[in-house]
Amino acid sequence: MTGQTVKIASLCECGDMAVRQVNQFINFGELWWDAEFFCDGCGSYRCEHSGPGEAPDDEWRQALLAANGPVRLRLAGPVPSLVPALKVFREVSGVSLPQARGLVDKLSSDGVVGTLAEMEFLKTRLQLRGIPVDIDR
Ligand SMILES: [Zn+2]
Repeated sequence: MTGQTVKIASLCECGDMAVRQVNQFINFGELWWDAEFFCDGCGSYRCEHSGPGEAPDDEWRQALLAANGPVRLRLAGPVPSLVPALKVFREVSGVSLPQARGLVDKLSSDGVVGTLAEMEFLKTRLQLRGIPVDIDR
């Protein structure tokens, strides 16, 4: 399984320092994330989120990127047309056509940057459409 985890110290209601663990991974071909909270002090545990989609950017995704480092997804060979790549970005990321064009431009130059799970997910989708891509780590 492709996935990444970050543990974030977080104050529990009991007053002890607890841990919030955020995981991002591929599940049944979809990008998923979940968040769990657990405290050794009082033994409390809860699952705060578990489901498909992109992790909320400002909190968890940035923490995942900071802990694990970003990776780059790049075009790995010549393609007759980048139209299938445009479709993938529009489907997967729900972006506008100009934004999808920007992402395709990045794919064929510096690379599209994101978390490992996000880029693995995109890589699979792009390869299914016949676009050769690879991840730089
Ligand atoms: Zn506690």
